[in-house]
Amino acid sequence: MERLEGKVAMVVGAGSIGPGWGNGKATAVTFARHGAQVFCVDRNRDAALETVRLIEGEGGSATAFTADVSRGAEVAVMVQACLATYRRIDVLDNNVGIAETGSVVEVEETEWDRVFAVNLKSAYLAMKHVVPVMIAQGGGSIVNISSVASISHVGISYVSYGASKAAMNQMTRTSAVEFAPHHVRVNAILPGLMKTPMVEHSAGLAASYAKGDVEEMWRKRDAQVPMGHMGDAFDVANAALFLASDESRYVTGITLVVDGGLTCRS
Ligand code: NAD
Repeated sequence: MERLEGKVAMVVGAGSIGPGWGNGKATAVTFARHGAQVFCVDRNRDAALETVRLIEGEGGSATAFTADVSRGAEVAVMVQACLATYRRIDVLDNNVGIAETGSVVEVEETEWDRVFAVNLKSAYLAMKHVVPVMIAQGGGSIVNISSVASISHVGISYVSYGASKAAMNQMTRTSAVEFAPHHVRVNAILPGLMKTPMVEHSAGLAASYAKGDVEEMWRKRDAQVPMGHMGDAFDVANAALFLASDESRYVTGITLVVDGGLTCRS
């Protein structure tokens, strides 16, 4: 069933930081499997190209584009490049994100600014340039990838990450109201503890969980979740597919938690 037939989807952060399936890579491939033409943006050209190769290998259509989306000028060029290639943008998936550990006492000012630039400013910039395109087209769907760390303390300290994602939630809700009359829907997904390359490679996460022992970190994360295991990148991708498709045409402004019950446990 091609749930995105005829749609053009821009996935920002469509590569993966390491071998395996990240949320952005899985989302780009899932969108293509359901009929979308996918514009795959990443600051790492090889990562974007790998996702495009996967899509083309399955008979889908995709284009790679390199940009640092924390920079306004690069985002403006990115949006024009997508329009030059596909003429429209029906779906925008804002997936870039980095996690740096530390409390407000520990985190350095430069790190705080960097996390906010990558996690929040990137999504603001992409929406700033894409929303007018969607309005002119008569509508569209924006999916912002947030985190359960925006609404709860998940056991380790990364205040800049959680604060940037909380701001993303409010940007989502505010924009949902403001652009609803134009049929531009804006929703967020809050993934829980997912087993992705980003977690394995983020500075400080394995150190915070298990003194640097990645296997022990996976065990601890599994044990935190009521379902007994972490989610994977396709759990996020499938939620994004629903929000991107017309099946969710009456859904806007939600923060969709995808966490195996984690945030229900006090
Ligand atoms: P990933 O790090 O594997 O992939 C993200 C891609 O974004 C990378 O290829 C990276 O090169 C790219 N990128 C980073 N900064 C960029 C920039 N400034 N400009 C352009 N590209 C940039 O991560 P992923 O698995 O795809 O998931 C990322 C998203 O999921 C993040 O927003 C993250 O906060 C969120 N998330 C993940 C988890 C989890 O447990 N894995 C949980 C909650 C939320």
